[in-house]
Amino acid sequence: MIDEGYIKYRCYWSQVPAIAETEIAELNQWRTKFYQLGLIGEYDSGIGFGNISIRLDRFSQLIISGTQTGGIANLTAQHYTKVVDFDWQENYVVCEGLIKASSETLTHAAIYAANPSVNAVVHVHHRQLWQKLLDRVPTTNPNCAYGTPEMAEEIIRLCQQPSTQQQKIIVMSGHEEGILTFGKSLGEASNVLLQYFAAL
Ligand SMILES: [Zn+2]
Repeated sequence: MIDEGYIKYRCYWSQVPAIAETEIAELNQWRTKFYQLGLIGEYDSGIGFGNISIRLDRFSQLIISGTQTGGIANLTAQHYTKVVDFDWQENYVVCEGLIKASSETLTHAAIYAANPSVNAVVHVHHRQLWQKLLDRVPTTNPNCAYGTPEMAEEIIRLCQQPSTQQQKIIVMSGHEEGILTFGKSLGEASNVLLQYFAAL
């Protein structure tokens, strides 16, 4: 069963316009590309999958696509939200925007927390690629479910391994079809994914 799409953290949400189109221009270009490739999208059940984020100058803040936006072909600034604070151990996220943050925000946050040089994270779903990479690249413990403090802790553990820092990809064993890539820029995070995807 696909476990996806609902928020498991406490969400402190200020429903206010917080993001300008210029802030998400590059992020959204990449997001549209992944949508077109089917790496972000919606299951037949109507549940969206896939999300993308960038770190902001304020080090612990990020912009991330909103919850349940996977099925929308073209996003605008209103589909993104600004995460102004989070604590994966305490399992909460504080966000500002016209939509609540992705249910997978704390997974993104864990990657940023563990890697000071990382500024972009991409999370997609793809069954074939997931199956191919499972246990062949850094892979999370199958007992960790998405969107939980356990998954965040597991991501941080993996990020401390040199192989993860080198390969910049994590397969989420306990989250069917889930793959994460990251990098110092959006281009790097995206190209890591596209290289694995092209080699399928
Ligand atoms: Zn997912």
